[in-house]
Amino acid sequence: MAGRGHPEEAEQRTQAMRVGIGFDAHRLVAGRSLVLGGVAIPFEKGLLGHSDGDVLLHAICDALLGAASLGDMGKYFPSSDPKYKDASSMLFLEEAARLLRQTGSRLSNVDATIIAQWPTLQPYLEAMRERVAKALGLELTRVSVKAKSSDGLGFTGRGEGIAAMAVVAIEEQE
Ligand code: MG
Repeated sequence: MAGRGHPEEAEQRTQAMRVGIGFDAHRLVAGRSLVLGGVAIPFEKGLLGHSDGDVLLHAICDALLGAASLGDMGKYFPSSDPKYKDASSMLFLEEAARLLRQTGSRLSNVDATIIAQWPTLQPYLEAMRERVAKALGLELTRVSVKAKSSDGLGFTGRGEGIAAMAVVAIEEQE
């Protein structure tokens, strides 16, 4: 008979898993630097945005906030706020991780995909992983960053913009 003191029940009470999902897309324009996952990438265009337009970090931020039902990036970092003009999105990521920790939850892992026809992102993915893992205080093995072209389809396929999606898992401590 499993009573309240049963070890398996105790484990369930103290470690409930939750997940969060994030998505973002920004327009590619001339005259902007391209920054993805906190890494500067040589390219003829960059992502338009109030901040540095780092879609990967924005998607991860929203996934972190979503996992703890804390709302989304717009709630904490409104684009109407001049202090975020051209800001490094690493600041947002670090703050989202802090907000998550404040709830008592522990981040378990992050998996993300960037959707871009150009430039080729493969050579930069490892550096992005390292930057994200460091900002989140995670081991490298708990962070995954992938890149896909969209086979020439849609706005990403035409090179009009870059999109990113992310999921995170957290352990809710009680
Ligand atoms: Mg964004």
